[in-house]
Amino acid sequence: MIPSRRPADGMRDFRDLECAVTAISDGTLRRVPTTLADIITILEDRYDPAWAEPWDAVGLVCGDPEAVVRRVLFAVDPVSDVVDEALDWHADLIVTHHPLLLRPVHGVPATTPKGRAVHRLITAGAALYTAHTNADVADPGVSDALARAVGVTGTLRPLSPSAEDPRRGLGRVGELPAPVTLREFADAAAKGLPATAVGLRVAGDPEAPVRTVAVCGGAGDSLLGAARAVGADVYLTADLRHHPASEFREDGSTALVDAAHWATEWPWLGDAAAVVRQTGVETRISTVVTDAWTFRSLEGST
Ligand SMILES: [Zn+2]
Repeated sequence: MIPSRRPADGMRDFRDLECAVTAISDGTLRRVPTTLADIITILEDRYDPAWAEPWDAVGLVCGDPEAVVRRVLFAVDPVSDVVDEALDWHADLIVTHHPLLLRPVHGVPATTPKGRAVHRLITAGAALYTAHTNADVADPGVSDALARAVGVTGTLRPLSPSAEDPRRGLGRVGELPAPVTLREFADAAAKGLPATAVGLRVAGDPEAPVRTVAVCGGAGDSLLGAARAVGADVYLTADLRHHPASEFREDGSTALVDAAHWATEWPWLGDAAAVVRQTGVETRISTVVTDAWTFRSLEGST
């Protein structure tokens, strides 16, 4: 089974997984279905659960590792609209970035939104798996995909490198192929990210030159100091609050771009889906916008 597919040196050889799809049995070729355990093996090679923050809750939420998987849906949030999409498409597995059950629970009754999601998935025979902060710090991880989506083409390095392996870590910093103005960068970033109701908020001189770009998928205000320390011309992240943003702008020239949380993490879904496609299963990336904010009033905006 799965342990026997791992070479002795600890590095997993995915040619073995491909063999799981077309295996030799009794001298004849036959197809061996991909199981949930196979998918988990390949995901956890790229996004090791041991890298997750201590407060996080990653891994398998529901599902039988021995179950056959043919279709995998990738989404940022395990919300009801995503469960609807998965069940309509007859997905056997949903892989999400955000955990469904981040805090401990004493039950999953169908009378609560989270319990209802678990009931619907189990009833339909579908599994749910989460790769959260372990995907954030992976190499490549969530912020690599974000940096590419907003136009960074050069080498990327972590804003906050991991002590264990400096190639991994939170956030990324890199260079644009050529300097642009902050306004041009923001417009290109808006086009590169999926559209949301709120779009992008920008703090800084629209005509200021931008070449060095720092990014962090999700709520990244803990890396404001790191973005300044690496000399970024702009820092793009999500969920920035008034006081940290205002004080940051008072104390330096790095501009800020605040994007929708969902939009900053959505580009990673394509990377994760490519990893899983190695097993031969069908993958789909959810385009349901699950950002918390659903519209904005233009009244009062300048
Ligand atoms: Zn997030």
